[in-house]
Amino acid sequence: MSVSPSPQSIEKCRKFWANVAKKNGWYKEPFYVQVWADSRGEITDSVSFDGLQEDIVELIGDFAHCASCDIVIDLDFDKWYCDDYNTYCDNCQ
Ligand SMILES: [Zn+2]
Repeated sequence: MSVSPSPQSIEKCRKFWANVAKKNGWYKEPFYVQVWADSRGEITDSVSFDGLQEDIVELIGDFAHCASCDIVIDLDFDKWYCDDYNTYCDNCQ
């Protein structure tokens, strides 16, 4: 199962980019960031730019939805099963 990045790790990115924005004259409040995170919640990249309307968290990796319970399956880290048509999580197989 995939894990969202912690609020603290997102705040770290926000602080970093807020400093960049202040130095370059495009800081405004509220200040939003876009982050990329893997399924274990590790942020691998972040960015901010003038015009972001909200925080955006992008999950990276290969994902599928379980055909039975609709949970998000991380195909790299989770146990999963598929038949000819569908992918199932470990609980539903
Ligand atoms: Zn399932």
